[in-house]
Amino acid sequence: MSSSGPEERTPRPAPGTPESARGGHRPGERKARGPRTVVALGGNAMTAPDGHARPEDQRAAIESAMEHVADLIAAGTEVVLTHGNGPQVGNLLVKNELAARVVPPVPLDWCGAQTQATIGFTMVSALEAALRRRGHERAVAALVTRTRVDADDPAFANPSKPVGRYLPPAEAEEFIALGQDWIDLGPRGMRRVVASPEPREILDAPALLTLIESGAVPVAAGGGGIPVVCDDRGTVRGAEAVLDKDRTAALLARAVGAKRLVIATDVPAAIVGYGTDDARPIGRIRAAELRAYADQGHFADGSMGPKVEAALRFVESGGERAVITGLDRMGAGLDGREGTVVEP
Ligand code: ADP
Ligand code: MG
Repeated sequence: MSSSGPEERTPRPAPGTPESARGGHRPGERKARGPRTVVALGGNAMTAPDGHARPEDQRAAIESAMEHVADLIAAGTEVVLTHGNGPQVGNLLVKNELAARVVPPVPLDWCGAQTQATIGFTMVSALEAALRRRGHERAVAALVTRTRVDADDPAFANPSKPVGRYLPPAEAEEFIALGQDWIDLGPRGMRRVVASPEPREILDAPALLTLIESGAVPVAAGGGGIPVVCDDRGTVRGAEAVLDKDRTAALLARAVGAKRLVIATDVPAAIVGYGTDDARPIGRIRAAELRAYADQGHFADGSMGPKVEAALRFVESGGERAVITGLDRMGAGLDGREGTVVEP
C-alpha cells in the first residue's frame, strides 16, 4: 500500500528486533484498520467456570479467551483490551492477611499493579500465539496503567465494595484493629470493604495512544487501572481503593476515541426481570430505553449494573455501539446480531 496519511505512521522497531516482536505491519504495508473497539473481559475470561483461580486455571481461561479476541482482530477490528482482576486481588489480599506477621501487607494500589502485570503478561503471550496461528504477526503489549480518582470522592468516606474472603468476626478483629473496614454479612462471616471511587481519567492515555498508533494490540487499564490521586502540583500517588473495570472501560473507550465497546461476560445478554418468571434478554436497544430499565432497578449492583452503566455512558457520550454479551459472541454482538446491543 503506497498512500499514507499523516496518522499512518509506520512503526520503527529497533535494529535487530525480531520480526515477531515488531509492530503491526512492515513499512509501507500498513493496512487500513477496522473500527477501534475496546474489549473488556470479565472474571470468567480469567478463571475456570467453577471459579477456580489456580495459575493453570487462569492460564487456560485466558488462552481460550484470547482465541476469541484473536478472531476479532483477524476479522479486522482494531482492539484495545482491558480486563477485570477481582479474584486475583482477592487472592493477594488473603496472602497479605496470612503473612502479615512476616512480611508487611502491601496497599491496594500495589495489588492492582501486580495483577495488571501477571494477567497482562499471560494475555500478551496467549494473544500473540493465537494471532500467529492465524497468520497475523502483531506486537501485543501490556501497559501498566494508572487511573486518576478524586481524593474527595465520597467512596473514601464510605467504603462499600467487599473484597477478599469471609472471616469469622474473631479473626476479622485483628484487621479491624489495623484500621481496615469490615462488615458483618451474617452467617457467612465478615468481609473487608474498600472504597470503589469513580474513575476520572486514564493518566497513561498518551502512552496508550502511541502504542495503538504503532500498530500494537494493547492490554490496558487492567482491573480498572491502578487507582491514584494527584495533588495540586501534579504528583501522583496510589490510592487505597479498587476500581470497577466496567466503569473504567467506558472511560478508556472515550480516551482512545473508540467507536465501539464490548463488555464480555458469562451471560449472553443483559436481562430484564432477571431471576423472575418474566425474565427476558435484551437485544438491540436504544440508550434511552435501557436507561429506563436501569432506573427501574433491573440490573444488580456490582455485577450487571456497572456493565449497563458503562454501556450507557459510552453511547450517551458519543460512542456508536456498546455490546454486552458472552465471550464467544463478541463478533456477532459487534455486528448487532447477538447480545445486548446499545445504540444512541
Ligand atoms: P464479570 O466477571 O464478567 O464482570 P459479573 O459476575 O460481575 O461478571 O456480572 C455478570 C453476572 O451478572 C451474571 O453472571 C449474572 O449472574 C449477573 N446479573 C445480575 N443481574 C443481571 C441481569 N439483569 N441480567 C443478566 N445478568 C445479571
Ligand atoms: Mg464484574
